[in-house]
Amino acid sequence: MFDDLRDLYQEVIFDHNRNPRNFREMPNADRKVEGFNPLCGDRLTLFLKMQGDVITDASFQGSGCAISTASVSLMTEIIKDKTEAEADALFQQFHAMTTGKGDDANLEAVGKLAVLAGVREYPARVKCATLAWHTLDAALKNQQQAVSTE
Ligand code: ZN
Repeated sequence: MFDDLRDLYQEVIFDHNRNPRNFREMPNADRKVEGFNPLCGDRLTLFLKMQGDVITDASFQGSGCAISTASVSLMTEIIKDKTEAEADALFQQFHAMTTGKGDDANLEAVGKLAVLAGVREYPARVKCATLAWHTLDAALKNQQQAVSTE
């Protein structure tokens, strides 16, 4: 990866960590699932508002490291107005990217999420980046119990 691209990616991560998007409780949420990454101590609650199979609103609360906060912040932005199937496809692409199984075609498919591609070089941080998505996966499957990456 080129250094200037890496700097840009880090800038986006810092920005979302400092100023997380959709960081709020959603009292009338249709789905609410907690996620926990014991390895790092990242903890979040994901809220979804659904209309049919479309995610009309997404928000979160919790606390975690910069990677996990940026990941869930970016995720709540990108899944809004997506269908469950589209969100699931993004999850599969994101998972492939962060675990190093994706290729450059995947990087384009995930759009803005590509800023988190760098975590694949740091296996210990992959769970920080994927926690939000595993929690989303549980929420879309309508599971109530908390998600743990361990
Ligand atoms: Zn973390």
